[in-house]
Amino acid sequence: MILLRALLDWRTVIDITLIATCLFFLYQTINRLGTWKIVVGILAAMMIFLGANIFDLAGIEWIYRNLSSVVIIALIIIFQPELRKIFERAVSVRRNEIFDNGNDLSNMIAQALSAMAQQRCGAILVFPGKESITEYVSGGFSLDAKPSYPLLMSIFDHNSPGHDGAIIITGGQFTQFGVRLPISESLKLPREYGTRHHAALGLAEKTDSLVFVVSEERGNVSVFHMGKMIKADSQKAIISTIASHWENTSSYPLDFLKNKNRWTVFYQMAASLALALLFWSTIIVAQGERIERVFTVPVEYLASPTSLALVGEREKEVQLYLGGTKSDLDAIVNPSDLSVKIDLSKVALGTQSFFITNDDIRLPKGVKLIEATPSRIELTFAAITEHWAFVVPQLVGDLPSGLTIGSVVVKPDKVKVISPSSDGDGKTVNVTTTPIYMESITKNRNILCKIIAPQTIQPVDKRWPDVEVIISINRQVN
Ligand code: ATP
Ligand code: MG
Repeated sequence: MILLRALLDWRTVIDITLIATCLFFLYQTINRLGTWKIVVGILAAMMIFLGANIFDLAGIEWIYRNLSSVVIIALIIIFQPELRKIFERAVSVRRNEIFDNGNDLSNMIAQALSAMAQQRCGAILVFPGKESITEYVSGGFSLDAKPSYPLLMSIFDHNSPGHDGAIIITGGQFTQFGVRLPISESLKLPREYGTRHHAALGLAEKTDSLVFVVSEERGNVSVFHMGKMIKADSQKAIISTIASHWENTSSYPLDFLKNKNRWTVFYQMAASLALALLFWSTIIVAQGERIERVFTVPVEYLASPTSLALVGEREKEVQLYLGGTKSDLDAIVNPSDLSVKIDLSKVALGTQSFFITNDDIRLPKGVKLIEATPSRIELTFAAITEHWAFVVPQLVGDLPSGLTIGSVVVKPDKVKVISPSSDGDGKTVNVTTTPIYMESITKNRNILCKIIAPQTIQPVDKRWPDVEVIISINRQVN
């Protein structure tokens, strides 16, 4: 039910769409880069998080809550190049025009590639796509030449100084030759492929270029695109590969939906959407499930009348059993914010019980009190009366040896106090002075002290007076 209601919310639609889009682009990019370990890692982390959420594993949830932002920042730093790619791909709208008037260029390239293969003349030809290749390639010589068969053959001639490296074909022109490409670290090519093929694969992993390689050793043509070796074993296949590359890279980002692989893309999108839905709904179900949790919260006693005083023991904390959805209960980070507030403004003399109810606690929306232990708090109030209290000097330790106390006089020796009558009934109420350490006293002293009293005893004049303790010493004569 909750799930259905949540699903109809527009925020949910945006939420799921965004998750699905991220998953889709992540899949696309990672598929091309071949770095599958990250995906497995991210998926495993997601699964653990889901599990912890469903089964309410407090430890794992704590780790996620507290470490997740650090981990995300670390992931962003580690996978910065891959993430940049994801965003670049998502927004790259550069249009390539189709330069193949009457198939001249792709025809000529196909012929040259087979001729070079036959002559065992190694070569690399790069057709950049929408993404810039400049940051990945280095070296080379710039050229602004109209493509022609003899020019291509002369560039890759063994004796030509520019035959090492790749030729770049952009905008229907030969723009650069002798260019060094980034070598792929992937292990997916067969052992017999050397640096030339790995250089071609490297650029095809990092950008959306189409890269042709003629093998000097084997005399064949290989084609690399999107981090994969693709098949193009005839001149016809080469021509159509170039044509579809131009077509794809001359379009807007979402036009890839129209290409030959649109079913594959559709399945990938559907899978991303399904995964996003699964992830999202598990969280919602787990969050929406009603659960109970126990919190220990402080009790505050408010607005006690001035004529009465609370006497005896009182609860400082109570345990609250609260019910609500997981997300509502998760929102209670600091249980002491919930404090139970007992209103004492209407109390009377004697012992009274206070039941703890929803009204005494400011609970977050959606959270209900199920039970409190103790469920009631018993409080005793006594009338406050005015009387005298004796001030007792607090003498700590003994005098140095050879000395005895002659007399101890306290000035004043009693103060007027107010205290609950039960404290004063019949008995005399005493207050003490701050401690006086006897071992430091070697002669007669007048010591100024403050008064210490239990909380229930208060001075009539709001402030305790200072008292003077006059100690006189006798020296023992042996
Ligand atoms: P082949 O099948 O032609 O022998 P291969 O994959 O076995 O190719 P190598 O035999 O190592 O590769 O070929 C070396 C040639 O590859 C170099 O002479 C050079 O022309 C080219 N090459 C090597 N590294 C790069 C690079 N980073 N960028 C462009 N071309 C490169
Ligand atoms: Mg070789």
